[in-house]
Amino acid sequence: MRFNELNLSWELLRAIEDCGYTEATYIQKACIPVVLSGGDIIGQSQTGTGKTAAFAIPLVELLQPTIQKRPQALILSPTRELALQVTEEIRKFAKYKEGLRTVCIYGGQPIQRQIQDLKKGADIVVGTPGRILDHIKRRTLRFNECRILVLDEADEMLNMGFREDLETLISHLPSQRQTILFSATMPQPILEITDQFQNNPIHIKNPVSQMTAATIEQIYYECSQSDKLIVLMQLLQMRNPGLAMIFCNTKKMVDELVSELVVRGYPAAGLHGDMKQEQRTLVMEKFKKRRITMLVATDVAARGIDVETMDIVINYDFPQEEYYVHRIGRCGRAGKQGLAITLITPRQREKMRAIEQLTQSRITKQALPSRSDMQQFHFQHVKNKLVDDLSHSIPKEIQKLLEELLQEGYRAEEIAGVLLYREIGKELFNEIQRPKDPDSKKARSRAISVLLLDIGKKQDIAPAHIISALAESSGIRGKDFGKIEISQKETTVEVPQEYAADILECLKTTTIHGIPVHGLILETHKNKTRKRSEKSPRNKRSQVASDLKERKKRSISSKHKRR
Ligand code: ADP
Ligand code: MG
Repeated sequence: MRFNELNLSWELLRAIEDCGYTEATYIQKACIPVVLSGGDIIGQSQTGTGKTAAFAIPLVELLQPTIQKRPQALILSPTRELALQVTEEIRKFAKYKEGLRTVCIYGGQPIQRQIQDLKKGADIVVGTPGRILDHIKRRTLRFNECRILVLDEADEMLNMGFREDLETLISHLPSQRQTILFSATMPQPILEITDQFQNNPIHIKNPVSQMTAATIEQIYYECSQSDKLIVLMQLLQMRNPGLAMIFCNTKKMVDELVSELVVRGYPAAGLHGDMKQEQRTLVMEKFKKRRITMLVATDVAARGIDVETMDIVINYDFPQEEYYVHRIGRCGRAGKQGLAITLITPRQREKMRAIEQLTQSRITKQALPSRSDMQQFHFQHVKNKLVDDLSHSIPKEIQKLLEELLQEGYRAEEIAGVLLYREIGKELFNEIQRPKDPDSKKARSRAISVLLLDIGKKQDIAPAHIISALAESSGIRGKDFGKIEISQKETTVEVPQEYAADILECLKTTTIHGIPVHGLILETHKNKTRKRSEKSPRNKRSQVASDLKERKKRSISSKHKRR
């Protein structure tokens, strides 16, 4: 169904057209008429099916700007990112409805600034429950005239422990109101909430046959756990995705994979529950500007965040059944072709079948890329580039060099062949690299040095910064790094002992995340990694730290002297 069949005003239709939407999604065509007629809704559909527009479009249509600017609608979101996304979307739809003001309120931002902002009034308030409640208690927000309440990602809000806040908050709203609830799942607590806060809601649910978009090609590769990294790298080379999302099951795996990708030159970043809001926002901003093109995430962190449409979604770790659909729904949105790749170990075959049944879709097994596959893909890539370049002219000087070579008796085919070989690179002709078993005896018996660096969270340092800087300057590979622990002011990094001195040498001429850094060897030990609790003795640590300070002072004063 097209939007112009939905009885919307020209202001909305034009704004929708500006967004590039033509066809309404299932949830949109089902919800918009109900919201317009004033009904309550429980909407259930997976991520990426356009739930935001399903409530934002009719909301903007229903509301008229008033002079008093008292909130007529409140939209609650579980996180700051989601609240910001919803706000952005509402503003887009309200583009041609002059005077309709939307304000976004979330925790973490200075409250005084929000109070100032709210003094200008708001027709629509979007926010996170805790902070909204805070404003209600301070009487800087009143909802006496609020007639529409939207609970977006309701299950997530409950998961995050907002239940009490929600109950208190909603008790401050008029009972005569429309309540719209969206949730990806319908567990008991959600049903209780709907009972408590809604009035004869209409249940709208995506039909199962639409669970996975037909535009997503789904394939899987079977390999051992220890080969996954290499298979992933090969797939990334072969498929060369513009934007990719890679899912892992744990935070640790996310961190590890990001390091591996960064070291290999991929612009990757991680997203997981342990990250502070600010870090997450930063990652999302970079992603939107395409400074990061690979997002490695856990399910919970990725939930509900509207990232741009991915070309590829990769299940690096095998997903739980209910997450599979959420994950792959990140690509192939809005009619674009997407590709979902799952890496499975032989033991997960049965589970893959179960998911295939559940989603009623075809997930085809692919043979692991062979050396000749890798070559073919790469050759095609180089050929395309070359054919493209052949349509451009080359500088006179190069032309002259070529003529010289020809006059000296070299044949054009010979020259072209050598240049192609150089362009393609030797690596592609070596045996395919096999991964080393990380638990092999050799790896275990290696001596490890712990380096202490004088940078930390204060300078916004993340493990990827450390790894990329040290790897770049000293040539040590990502997987050779051991544990990296970042505190406020300092960082410890485990590296193989044989690299330690080199790295310290390199630190003198390099920066990490743009910051000059000083480092020292804190200790060296035989085991592969330390246990988290086994910190080095306190006095030793502080002694090294003061040593570090001393050195820093000296280096600063010597720099002054040199000038
Ligand atoms: P959900 O809340 O269900 O996870 P979103 O509202 O975040 O989904 O929408 C997912 C993406 O689809 C967004 O990028 C949005 O701009 C886009 N989108 C929504 N509706 C349409 C539509 N009718 N046509 C094309 N794209 C749409
Ligand atoms: Mg949403």
